[in-house]
Order: sequence, then structure tokens, then C-alpha cells
Amino acid sequence: MKQTVRDLRRHNRSVLLSTLYLGDPQSRQDLSQATGLSQGTVSNVVGELTEEGLVVEAGLVDSDGGRPRTLLRVNPGYRYVVGLDVGETRVRTEVFDLSMRPLATVDSPLASTRPDPDAVVRQVLDSLNAVMRRASVGPDDVLGVGIGVFGTVEQGREATVYAQTIGWDAVPLERMLRPGTTLPIYVDNGAKTLGQAEMWFGAGRGVGHAVIALVGSGVGAAVITNGTIYRGATSSAGEWGHTSLVFDGRRCRCGSRGCLEAYVGAEGVLDRYRQARGGRPVPGEDEESALASLLASAATSKVAARVLAETADFLGAGIASLVNLFNPERIVLAGWAGHALGGRLLPRIRAAAADRALRHPFGQTTIQLGQLGTDAVALGAATLPVADLLARGASPAEAGRRPPVRVSAHA
Ligand SMILES: [Zn+2]
Repeated sequence: MKQTVRDLRRHNRSVLLSTLYLGDPQSRQDLSQATGLSQGTVSNVVGELTEEGLVVEAGLVDSDGGRPRTLLRVNPGYRYVVGLDVGETRVRTEVFDLSMRPLATVDSPLASTRPDPDAVVRQVLDSLNAVMRRASVGPDDVLGVGIGVFGTVEQGREATVYAQTIGWDAVPLERMLRPGTTLPIYVDNGAKTLGQAEMWFGAGRGVGHAVIALVGSGVGAAVITNGTIYRGATSSAGEWGHTSLVFDGRRCRCGSRGCLEAYVGAEGVLDRYRQARGGRPVPGEDEESALASLLASAATSKVAARVLAETADFLGAGIASLVNLFNPERIVLAGWAGHALGGRLLPRIRAAAADRALRHPFGQTTIQLGQLGTDAVALGAATLPVADLLARGASPAEAGRRPPVRVSAHA
């Protein structure tokens, strides 16, 4: 019985915190209407959360005729969160307050394009210490550290990373990081953390069913159904980049042939362009500048224009599969190459998707660019400790580190 009361209290705190955090500032009355909790319960729980410093007042709003109502919001300065984007070429580390305003950033390049796990662990811990010094925050000020990594992250008792394309097989990243920090650690796939950020703050806000398609050097996706990320049996769901586009087609980094990634990932696009140029290398010191050069050449070069048109068609075909499989309300094209390609080619991508998707589900979906820019993986990673806070209704330390329930991104 005691347990039940405690669970109910925790559930109410979680519901109210999530509603406040994911929505606009609201009055107690708004909260009662939005959550279905009684005004008395809302008042009690809000009183508790305010006393703990988790919720603060955010101004007054007129109520017709009556007393003005106090608006409430989650306190941005309650604690800080750290987000790390562990990419294939660099580690970006950022400290945010709870409104996701960045306080400090540290970028450090990875020495190798096939980094070994020990080197990544050292770099993550060094970056974490450096960014906390730069932001002048101590361990007690930090709610937790979220890490978005390449590859699949299996969420068991501890997070394990499988990144076949760079030779990581069952790397116990969380266990390897533990001795280096006392802070709670959360690890997830970078495309999934970016997806969560777009759902909370960007192009997916307010949408229940969406796919956030991440196109960078590689290709991934976060599939959101009923506001939560679809994970599958061991969290690898959403590996859209390794679905077959061309039977026995181009060799993919995963070892298979004909994967979507081999055609629309930046590495694949640039390789196709190089081949179309008779093997001449594409100018640019890295993939981003090479892709920019390809886009710039499209106005004057027939070869560049053809490669881009084909890329739009391939991408549209891949998106049509997402429409047919998941019936999303929205597809968000994100990632640095997704922005670069989509910024130029979105009408053709949409047309190619329309040609190949079933008419009815296609009519229910919109295809648009991400709103959080090209570097939102660290921001997304920083939402992992926030999601835990919302799910528990309290910080992990105060909740006694009980396993969290999953929070819905669709409040
Ligand atoms: Zn593949």
C-alpha cells in the first residue's frame, strides 16, 4: 500500500514536470486541465517541486475577470546537463542549463577515423573535465552526462556499443567510463539523441508519429511512435541507412551491398561524384567542404547536377519506404549532409518520395528540414539526463537511482 502511494506521487510529479518542461509556461489551472489531475493534487505537487527548486514562477497571466494567474516553468538553473557528440571524426562536448541554453563547448578531433574504444574513453573523460571547468560547474551542479555515439547502443544493465562500420563489437562503453566520473552516465545512438531533440524542441514538436532521418557521412533514423522512440528488441531499430536500395549494388561500409547509405550518405555521394568525374578527386579538405563544392558546381557542371538529381531520387525512394513502413505525420531531414542536400533539393526529394510511396499515407505526411541546425547531437545527448529527470519526477540522486520509466516526448 505504501509503495502504491509513493508510486502514485512519483507518477504525478513526472506527469507535471514533463508537461511543464515540454510545453510553454502554464498556470496551475492549465496544468490541471492538461494532465487531468485535480487542482488540489496539482497545487500539492507544484508546492513540493517549487520548494525543491525544480519549478519556478514565470510571470502572471490575466484570467478573465478573476485574479491574475501565476505561470510556472521548470527552473533552468536547477541543475546543468552535459551532452557529448562522439562522432567518427571528433568529440563535441557541451554544458547546458535545463532550458538547453549552452554555457560552454569543447571540440576535440579524434586522431583516427577508426578510433579504438580506450582512446575514445580517455577523450570523453578529458573533454568532460575541460568543459565543466570552462563552464565553472562542479559535479554537484550536474544532473548527468548524456553521450550520443555512432553505432547501435544496446540498453541492458549497462550501455553496450556495436559499431560494425568501424569495428566496434560489444564495447562496454558505460562500464569503461564509470571509473573516470561519479556523474550519472547515459549513452545512446547519436541519431536517436538528435531525434529526441528535434521532437522536444525542433521540427517534431507536438507530433506523435514522426521519423527523424539523419544524413551525415552515414545515414540513420529515429522512428517515433506515440511520442516515444521505437527501439526494437535490442535498441538497434532505425538503421535506415542499411536497408537495401539497389539489389547487389554499391559496396557499403557495413559489408553488405546496395544499402541506402552507400548512395545518399556524404561518403557515398562524394564517391559517386568522383566516379562520375572519371576518378578525379573532388576538391575540398573534408567531406563537408567537398559536398559544398559539389553543390556549388551543380549550376555549371552537368555531371554535378546529374549526381545531385540522382541523390535526391535515391533519398526520396528511401523516404518513401519510411512512409510506407511507419505512416508518420512528419519526416524530418536532419544531419549536416541532410541539411546541405535538403536545402537545395527538397522539392525533388519530395517528388521522388511521392512517386514511390503509397498515396494515402504519403498524403498524411509532411517532409521538412530539421530546425536545430547541423550540430544538435550534443544537445540531443544532453536531453538523456533530462528525460530521466522527467521520468523519475526527481533527480537520480533524490530518486535513489531507481530504474527510470520511459518518458513520452509527446506531452
Ligand atoms: Zn550497409
